[in-house]
Amino acid sequence: MLGKIYYGAVVFLFGLVVGSFDNVAIYRIPEGKSLWAPRSFCPHCKATIAWYDNIPLLSYFLLQRRCRSCGEPISARYPLVEFLSGALFLSVFAKLGFAWRAELLPYLFMVTVLIIVSAIDLREQVIPNRVMYPSIPLGLAAMGVVALVRGDAGLFLRSLAGLAIGGVPLALLALCVPKGMGMGDAKLAAFTGVFLGYQQLTAFFFAFLLGSLVGIGLIVAGKKGRRSRIPFGPFLACGALVALFFGSNLWRLYRSLL
Ligand SMILES: [Zn+2]
Repeated sequence: MLGKIYYGAVVFLFGLVVGSFDNVAIYRIPEGKSLWAPRSFCPHCKATIAWYDNIPLLSYFLLQRRCRSCGEPISARYPLVEFLSGALFLSVFAKLGFAWRAELLPYLFMVTVLIIVSAIDLREQVIPNRVMYPSIPLGLAAMGVVALVRGDAGLFLRSLAGLAIGGVPLALLALCVPKGMGMGDAKLAAFTGVFLGYQQLTAFFFAFLLGSLVGIGLIVAGKKGRRSRIPFGPFLACGALVALFFGSNLWRLYRSLL
């Protein structure tokens, strides 16, 4: 029990640190800037942020939500992304029974890409190729390693099936109805399919369900016109998380109802 709490805390802290990197990626990738240099700086006064002011989650509150050099408020997005990353890392670890299983790193990688891509899609209405092009082969390679470790070739075949289940329908949709769906959405669904296999179907179900509910909600609330575009990436990401965490239970429930 103590071991679980201790390792859980380690994974949560690791998630916070990766979340801090996510913030850098979310800010710099749409601007085409390097992720590695220069060091983090305040977007207002451009002052470099000292390491002790750059501690995930903690610094935001210690600095009372303001930049130390110019006093401009720090966006709440930073601590939110960090906390989300920590919480999702911990959830993945809990899902794997607090055990160091081969799936852990691939799933943490999936969660990280989902956070970065959703935040960028919400802000810029684009799912960047700079994230998706390296992430899809990297995800496939990671699941290939898991299949090797498990001695389960079927697992890798399910990854390939998931890639097709995720990518092909949305790519066709994007070609036929370019205004409704983007190629970026197809790449994102192909990416999550690599990790989810057939559960990508569950991911789609919840992505479209959530997307329609939110879309209708926004139209009713008068915040969106019927024709304006709502980024779909965050819904694909939510659907993928539902499939990852609850997919197998949902399948069992569904089959027991038949
Ligand atoms: Zn500043």
